[in-house]
Amino acid sequence: MKKMSRLKLFGCLVAAVVLGASANTSQAQTTGQPAPDHPAVTVWGQTYTPRSILARNMGTPEDQTTQFPPHKIVGNIYYVGTRTLSSFLVVTPQGNILIDSTYERNVPTIEESVKQLGFKFSDIKILLGNHAHGDHQEGDALVKQLTGAQVMAMAEDLPALQAIKPGGKEHPIDKVLHDGDSVALGGTTLVAHLTAGHTRGCTTWTMKAQQDGKTYNVVIHCSLRSPEVLTPAIVSEFNHSFELVRSLPCDVPLGDHPAQYSMQEKYTKLQRGVLNPFIDAAGCKVEVDIEEAMFHAILAEQRKAP
Ligand SMILES: [Zn+2]
Repeated sequence: MKKMSRLKLFGCLVAAVVLGASANTSQAQTTGQPAPDHPAVTVWGQTYTPRSILARNMGTPEDQTTQFPPHKIVGNIYYVGTRTLSSFLVVTPQGNILIDSTYERNVPTIEESVKQLGFKFSDIKILLGNHAHGDHQEGDALVKQLTGAQVMAMAEDLPALQAIKPGGKEHPIDKVLHDGDSVALGGTTLVAHLTAGHTRGCTTWTMKAQQDGKTYNVVIHCSLRSPEVLTPAIVSEFNHSFELVRSLPCDVPLGDHPAQYSMQEKYTKLQRGVLNPFIDAAGCKVEVDIEEAMFHAILAEQRKAP
């Protein structure tokens, strides 16, 4: 709480400082090279580079595959992911919804987390995804094989999803979604918002959660992390996505990597008995502020390059 009020004070002081000189065209995630250490932006008093954001998101290989204690977030939403790769379980009387299978090798860990919370993995009826990158959706085929869940995906992400074939398995797609579509099960409705940029079909999910007689707007953000090279098409996607996510009603911000919503810090507070640190309207814009500042810095650097 102390931190958030400090953040509020600096609300108007979001500063983007471009330190790098030339655009770096290396593709960190595709070539295995580290992400560049420029440009640097300072947002809410913290300085970030593409490299530091990627490191913050992914952690170590061990972090990516080590179970984080499964826990209730708010209402019928639970965390069942690893230390650095989010996976959310939405529980309803008519079966459950899983958002993000993460890497295929994490599926048994997610299954274990679901069981530890007292739910059945086989009760997962619908599998949704954040975006078509392997760290979020590689395990879709295995989850479908184990649960029979219907796999639903945003139309614009289909080509990238169909290219994810662990062990040669075809990526399952049972229903194609479009911007604004709803997914309903057992009284819970999730809305799929197309927030492209990071991938063509990057999907921000919104839903309402009830707790203690109150209703909260939950936003499961898609990644807003810029690639290293911004084409005009990607620039226009991001411009639309930043505007859209800022317009969403939000009480509980969540994201595809737990660091995007300070999960560890909030979980520690939860253990100390703080009522519900995940209800954090003031924190809803932090990640978009960071990523939008970085996007503009990368774009400025790219435009300066010869
Ligand atoms: Zn990604």
